[in-house]
Amino acid sequence: ATPTSIMVGTGRGAENGILFKGGEYLEGTQGIQAVLLDKTGTITEGRPRVTDVKTISGDERDFALIAAAEKRSEHPLAEAVIAYATEQGVEVNNPNQFEAITGHGVQASIDESDVLVGTRKLLTEQGIEVTQAEEVLQQFEDEGKTAVLAAIDGQLRFVIAIADTVKSTSKQAIEALQNDEIDVYIMTGDNRRTASAVAREVGIPEANVIAEVLPQHKADQVEKLQQEGKKVAMVGDGINDAPALAMADIGMAIGTGTDVAIEAADVTLVGGDLNNIPKAIKLSKKTMRNIR
Ligand code: ADP
Ligand code: MG
Repeated sequence: ATPTSIMVGTGRGAENGILFKGGEYLEGTQGIQAVLLDKTGTITEGRPRVTDVKTISGDERDFALIAAAEKRSEHPLAEAVIAYATEQGVEVNNPNQFEAITGHGVQASIDESDVLVGTRKLLTEQGIEVTQAEEVLQQFEDEGKTAVLAAIDGQLRFVIAIADTVKSTSKQAIEALQNDEIDVYIMTGDNRRTASAVAREVGIPEANVIAEVLPQHKADQVEKLQQEGKKVAMVGDGINDAPALAMADIGMAIGTGTDVAIEAADVTLVGGDLNNIPKAIKLSKKTMRNIR
């Protein structure tokens, strides 16, 4: 490998918003066989917004309790709920007690009320009956939305639909990778129905949908593909993605993502356009060809 061609290659990458942390990563990017894409903030814009609130029982005062339960959460879904409540003129107080339940939601106490916000599994495990919401839940999920359930004192109160727009460039980028015979996967903590709907929208086959993955298990999914003999690239933006980015043969962070993800990755895609993934692979191939 001549240092000059590596330098030219990394320079060309930088001009296009592809930042390789070192020449070895430019070399390592060739021959990638599988690309795992995080959903939120990678395939999608990462700016979730509440689109629908289905009231099972309760009123605006009850919704204020739900928003308060989310106030101390740093999850993007929590931000969406708070923003929505604020837009509706609902005053959002601080909870007396708060606990984040990784990959599932939040539990909080506000005044004398016990509030739970999160997945079906979270509520069901606390003995809350959710079957009456199943139909509306599935309807939201089939639209690619994340449906969040909210309960107060053991009673289901609201189903909140939260949507995040797919980046306009994602479908094209995924198609370009698939045309180069690269297997593309979607990996998310979100539920399977929502993940499948987003996958359909961007042309990822159902067999390549990896959903309901707890943050601590994302790296295991990378390792699983590696054990099948594949050279794997992981692309993500979140703190949750950092171990998987480190485990992958090549980790690619979205430049608008968290610092933790950028630090764990080998490459940063500055603007977050996924077309830079196939571009990076082509650049690597071309550079290595010039070397030999
Ligand atoms: P991801 O960031 O990939 O969507 P997470 O593991 O962070 O996955 O969360 C998985 C699921 O847990 C979310 O889709 C949501 O249903 C639920 N969840 C997590 N945090 C919250 C929260 N603060 N409020 C409501 N639901 C939450
Ligand atoms: Mg993400």
